[in-house]
Amino acid sequence: MTSEEKTIFKKIIDGEIPANVVFQDDLCLAFHDAFPQAPVHVLLIPKQEIENVDSLDDQHRDLAGHLLLTVPKVARLLGIEDSGYRVVANCGKDGGQSVDHLHLHILAGRPLTWPPG
Ligand code: AMP
Repeated sequence: MTSEEKTIFKKIIDGEIPANVVFQDDLCLAFHDAFPQAPVHVLLIPKQEIENVDSLDDQHRDLAGHLLLTVPKVARLLGIEDSGYRVVANCGKDGGQSVDHLHLHILAGRPLTWPPG
């Protein structure tokens, strides 16, 4: 894959563009969103290239579980475990997905309204 074909998140994984990293391990990376929609807005992504939630299948069982289990770890690092937070995965056009690399938004720091727009 050429650098031009890489998603912005793959470039972050590969260290080609900077990110404000909160947490990482062998399988995933969490970093602050560049355009935060709440006082705390962190993205959690797998290091493996997976387009979105709809691309997940049985081969991703362990990774998907790991990603979800990493959310509370990141929440504790951010100090938002008591106040609460929202986890969002935008998927596809109507879901509002703009980067074609699976990611979980972790949003916190103010009461979040429901339903989303
Ligand atoms: P989505 O719209 O659900 O695909 O989310 C993509 C998110 O990536 C948006 O919230 C953007 O603000 C965020 N984003 C785009 N480029 C960067 C970047 N270079 N570093 C951090 N976050 C980014």
